This record gives sequence, structure tokens and C-alpha cells, in this order.
Amino acid sequence: MDVSIGQLMLRSAVSTYCCAQLSNILGSKISYPGQSQYTTTTASYWSNQESTLQPACFLTASTSSDVSKAVSIISHIPDCNFAIKGQTHAPAAGFANINNGVTIDMTGLSSISVNKDKSVASVGAGASWLDVYKYLDPLGVTVAGGRNGAVGVGGLTLGGGISYFAPRVGWTCDTVVNFEIVLASGQLTNVNANSHPDLFRALKGGGNNFGVVTRFDFKTIPNGQILAGSVKQNFTHRNEVFKAFSDIAGAKHYDPYTSLVTGLLFVSATKAWSISTTPIYTKPVLNPPVYRELLAIPSTVSTLALTNLSTYAAEPATAKLNWAFFTGTYGVSVELLEKMVDSFNATMYDFNIPSGIIWSVSLEPLPTVITSFGSKNGGNVLGTSPSDGNGFVMLLSGLWNNTASNDLVEKTASKMVNKINGIAKGMGLLREFQYMNYADPSQDPIGGYGKDNVEYLREMSKKYDSRGVFQTRVPGGFKLFGSR
Ligand SMILES: Cc1cc2nc3c(=O)[nH]c(=O)nc-3n(C[C@H](O)[C@H](O)[C@H](O)COP(=O)(O)OP(=O)(O)OC[C@H]3O[C@@H](n4cnc5c(N)ncnc54)[C@H](O)[C@@H]3O)c2cc1C
Repeated sequence: MDVSIGQLMLRSAVSTYCCAQLSNILGSKISYPGQSQYTTTTASYWSNQESTLQPACFLTASTSSDVSKAVSIISHIPDCNFAIKGQTHAPAAGFANINNGVTIDMTGLSSISVNKDKSVASVGAGASWLDVYKYLDPLGVTVAGGRNGAVGVGGLTLGGGISYFAPRVGWTCDTVVNFEIVLASGQLTNVNANSHPDLFRALKGGGNNFGVVTRFDFKTIPNGQILAGSVKQNFTHRNEVFKAFSDIAGAKHYDPYTSLVTGLLFVSATKAWSISTTPIYTKPVLNPPVYRELLAIPSTVSTLALTNLSTYAAEPATAKLNWAFFTGTYGVSVELLEKMVDSFNATMYDFNIPSGIIWSVSLEPLPTVITSFGSKNGGNVLGTSPSDGNGFVMLLSGLWNNTASNDLVEKTASKMVNKINGIAKGMGLLREFQYMNYADPSQDPIGGYGKDNVEYLREMSKKYDSRGVFQTRVPGGFKLFGSR
């Protein structure tokens, strides 16, 4: 969107006023450029694209009441735009930060507790999954959260959430029994199967379109050690790996303890591909039969071992780079996977930018055992159904240093994914669903939920946010009225 200089000046004046009003009520929780809190928060973003944006001020929230006060002030100042920041793992510019507006940093809301019988874990919306696993592991329970511990509870859950436990309990959002949320009016409310059940469903896949979630209550899962690690094969064995992946992901009776990601990596500097798989088993079993075919393929490295979730999820931090995420969902087919690699290679091999680029392609099963939970516990709006059959989600990521190449990388990635979609469509394997948490801003994940779900979400927005605060004043993320 082009913005004139006049509009920019107006926005800047509004933001200054907005931050001053917030400072009056929230005092030192509001920080400004040049102050150490502001600098630390800016530096905490995961992607370059997000950390280079400059809000007029940050709110470092530490209680639900801070968020409630802030939203009531902001939502009544016309044109004061804001962003909601969790653990910042959505890389696109503006998803969790904003130029010239207010960014509400939720990471201070990270307290975790369990109820008496440990069946429900209450988690502050700004926590990281590692915080959660470290708290829950010693209690012998867990929740179906993110695989990389640095990822945020807020963004992952509101967009769906693929966890190691998904085949046992569904998308992460399917396991939420209560959302504590600040609505556009500033009102703090609980949303669950009995209180606002219509909004309860909308929040399960609805992203940041309905309010700022301050706490999630998740159903827990009894858990001890799991089998985790990765195996790396020589790239010449890729078709055998694809066959093993497809046999597992496409199985008529999918083993619900099975959760794997097959990852392909292409490094422009060496023009080399590599392939690895993380075959997780969410039970303490060293050699589960489900992985026999995969593990019979000669490997160069294997780190598979029994471990705790909190140990395994503590992955080393990645360097701050520019990142692009694109996604697609497909029916399971070895032939499609082979064509996918050929198609990606046809572009990636000769594509280069100053200081190079790394491309990563992740293949993640989406079996019907996961999608069958979509109609339980009040339902979700993702539009994924067991009637689609077993499928898999593909995440294409690009990571590179040279910011001047951002547009070129985005366009190239978009073309590659469109090409793959064309191939899959021709084979009758293209699915409408595009996973929100892996989607680029140019994609339309909400449209992919299907017409009925889109209409439902729009209805909920009119009911709970009649002024459209989360549609127009929170520009980051995927919005309801822009989708198909
Ligand atoms: C290294 C890595 C590993 C990943 N692993 C997984 C995985 O295992 N499974 C999976 O499903 N996905 C995974 N993802 C994708 C991840 O789910 C998304 O990136 C997700 O958006 C991250 O959430 P966040 O809170 O960290 O991000 P943020 O960038 O802080 O937020 C993402 C979006 O959610 C909104 N949001 C955040 N908190 C709130 C809140 N409290 N209320 C309202 N809106 C909010 C923000 O406004 C923003 O639009 C991974 C991503 C990365 C980079």
C-alpha cells in the first residue's frame, strides 16, 4: 500500500499522542526509541524483516490488565495502529511489529501453572514452548505445542499448531479448553465451550483477528521420555526416503505416536542438496516398527535416542537473517515428491544473490488422525477434514543475509511454489488448505479454510469487534476481509 508523506506525518503525530496516552496510564512499561527496553525488544525479533521496523513505542506488558488498559486506550484513538508481539517466529515484516504505531510485547505474560489433577496447563500467551516444557516435564505431563522450543505459544496456537503429539490430540488449537482474551473494547473475558462458544471455535485458527489472547488453558497429555533425534542420508537415497515418508504419511492406519519431518536443504554457495528426517515417537520406544523402512536406508548421521521434550526442544538459536516462509498442502505421493525436488532444483540451482541463500523444504504429514480432531472440543475453523484423506504440509523457507535481495527472493519463492501447486493440481493432489503459520503474506490461508469458515469468521468479527479494530488497526497477519 502506498502511503503519502502527509499520511505518514499524520500517523506519526497520532502514534506520538497514542504513546503519550499509554504512558499516562502504564508509566515505564511504555518505552521509546533510544531507551534500553526499546532497544532490547527490537533486538529480540527472530527475523531481520521484523527487527528493522520501528514502532513509536513498545508496551512491555506483564499482566492481562496492562493489555486490557492498552487496548481500551488504543482502540479509542482513531488511526492509532498496533501490533501484537509474541516470541516473533513469524518472519514477515509487520506480523508482530509495526512502523509508527504501538507494539504490545506479550512475552512478559509467561507464567505457567497446572490445575490440581494436572489435566489442564494454564500458560501465559507470551511464553515460549521451551518455558512450558521445562515446567511440565518434571510433572510427568506435557501439552501439544511447538517442536522448536523458541517458538511462541501465542502465534503457533492461534494459527493451528503442528506438534509431535498432533496425531494423538489434533492441532494445538484443538487442545485449548479456554482462552483468556482482551477484546477490541478492552474487556477481558474467558472464551470456552460454555462462554462465547462461537468465538471459541473462531479462535482455533483465527489468528490475531479477534483480540489479544492473554492466557491459554491446554489439556495436558501424560508424558515421559520420547524417541527423538534426526537421521541424515546421502541425497542419492532421496527417493527411498520419499518412499518411506509416503508409506508412513499415507498409511491407512497411521500410528498416532509417529511424528516426522523430512527436510531438504539446498545451499546456493555449494549448490548442494542434503536430506534428513526427524522420526519422533511420542513413547519411550527405541525401535518402533513404523520407522523400520526409513531406518533401513543407509544413513551418514543418526542422533536418535530417548530423551525429554524440554531437552530436545532446546534447539540452538539461528542467526538473525531475512526469512521467507511459503506453504502448500498436498496428497501423499512419492511421484509428487520426486517432481517437487526436480522443480525446486530447476530454479534454485542457478539462482543466486550476494552472500548466497539457503533454501529449506520441510515435509510434514497431515494424516486424517490429526484432522479428525477438527470437529471435537467445539471445533476449529481450519477447514481440514478426514474426508480429504492423508496429506502433507510443505514449508519452503529461504534464509539469506542481503536485504537488498528481499523482493527478488520473495518473488522467486512465490513462483516456485506456484509451479509446485500447478504440478500437484495436474496430479489431483493439490489441497486448498495453506497452513497460516507457514504462509507468506502473498498467500491466502484464511481463504483456504473454505467459504463457510470464511463467512463464519467474518460474522464473528462483526459480532465481537463491530468497529473492526483487529481488521484495520492491527494490520499485521492474515486478515478476514482480504481473503477470498
Ligand atoms: C524455527 C521455527 C520453528 C517452528 N516450529 C513450528 C512447529 O513445530 N509447529 C508449528 O505449527 N509451527 C512452527 N513454526 C511456525 C510458528 O507456528 C509461527 O511462526 C508462529 O506464528 C510463531 O508464533 P510466535 O508467537 O512465536 O510469533 P509472533 O511472530 O510473535 O506472532 C505471530 C502472529 O501471531 C500473533 N500473536 C502472537 N501472540 C498473540 C496473542 N497473544 N494474541 C493475539 N495474537 C497473537 C501476532 O500478532 C502475529 O501476527 C515454527 C517457526 C519457526 C521460525
